Amino acid sequence: MQPFCSQDGSRRLLRALIAVVEGGAEQPEAVRAQAREVWLAIDRERNADDAVRDGLVDLARLLLDHLGELVPQPWVGVQAGAIRDQLQAPLQPQQVEQAQNAVRDLLMRHSVLRKSEDDAHNTAKALIDLLVRKLGDYAAEGGEYNARLEQRLARLQASTEWDEIRQLVQEVLDDSRSMQQRSGELGAHLAEAQRQAQAAQERIRALEGELEQASQQLQQDPLTGALNRRGLDAEFERMRTRAARQGLPLAMALLDLDHFKAVNDTYGHDVGDAVLKALVALAKRLVRPSDRVARLGGEEFMLLLPDAPAQQALLVVQRLLAAFSEQTLVHDAAGRRVPLSFSAGVAQLCADETFAAIYQRVDAALLRAKQAGRNRVEPARGC
Ligand code: GH3
Ligand code: MG
Ligand code: MG
Repeated sequence: MQPFCSQDGSRRLLRALIAVVEGGAEQPEAVRAQAREVWLAIDRERNADDAVRDGLVDLARLLLDHLGELVPQPWVGVQAGAIRDQLQAPLQPQQVEQAQNAVRDLLMRHSVLRKSEDDAHNTAKALIDLLVRKLGDYAAEGGEYNARLEQRLARLQASTEWDEIRQLVQEVLDDSRSMQQRSGELGAHLAEAQRQAQAAQERIRALEGELEQASQQLQQDPLTGALNRRGLDAEFERMRTRAARQGLPLAMALLDLDHFKAVNDTYGHDVGDAVLKALVALAKRLVRPSDRVARLGGEEFMLLLPDAPAQQALLVVQRLLAAFSEQTLVHDAAGRRVPLSFSAGVAQLCADETFAAIYQRVDAALLRAKQAGRNRVEPARGC
């Protein structure tokens, strides 16, 4: 039991118990009472340890949940969300270790980026400093040059001696040549400063681009390039908040390919994959740029259509269905085109409706579309 007794209280009780036992234990009652006290103390400690551990895990989840709001770079929030999802109960030590490594990696990337930004700032500051000084020198020299020029012009006007005139003209020419050289140097400095500032900015942009891409991959289905469930959740939240704030509608459609198992069984998995990719590509082409296409898994897809009332969303999905079934993707053994289709349910988000609630409505509408013979789009029941 000794390893459990991390705290002084239970250690003292345990020592007392050992003393009672080593003393010959003439009174078994005393041993029992003492042992019971030790046991209760250990139990209390263990409960406290559990509470501390659970509290720490909750704290970590809370921090990871809101990290995205604390820093301006959107990729940080996405990566933190992914790490948070790793911390699913029941927790295993490997999960904690993985999450630790992921957080360390995130911090490292962030600090690399910040260091690059600092470097760029310092370079820019040094260059501006240099330029201001050079400009000052140039302006001072320019002032002297003008004064000299005026003096020489005055002398030139007064002069009648050819030698003196020739001498003065030569001086003016020499002086202006050296000024020209100065201004050329200044121009070169300016160009170099601009080049360095641009290079630093490009370096940062490339780094940020890489991180954005890595984050996007976390939100993407690798086969079709549609959003995955994580991406869908994030987009739905964003669109729902925006729709509520602006008082605009938000529509959702749930699509499921018809008899897709038969397509796989008859033409092979690769053909099935090609059909999934083709549907996503077509959907992306036909919907508005602000609409989103997500793959919920298997051959089930979701469309999010902001600013679209139910009736308009229904038309969009019907248009997509018509275009999809007209595509020539699969041929039978005789070379004939195999018609493909999907069934879908469409709903407009009600006030304060959760994702789970609207999903239930579109899912019920999808089921009705399947039962009514497939290859059709059904509106969901009202709020
Ligand atoms: P229904 O019209 O009722 O929807 O019939 P269905 O055959 O489409 O539905 P079912 O759920 O029975 O079968 C879905 C099939 O989708 C089963 C599986 O082979 C296929 N599928 C799921 N994920 C993938 C994938 O990533 N690639 C391919 N090629 N097929 C997949
Ligand atoms: Mg299905
Ligand atoms: Mg299906």
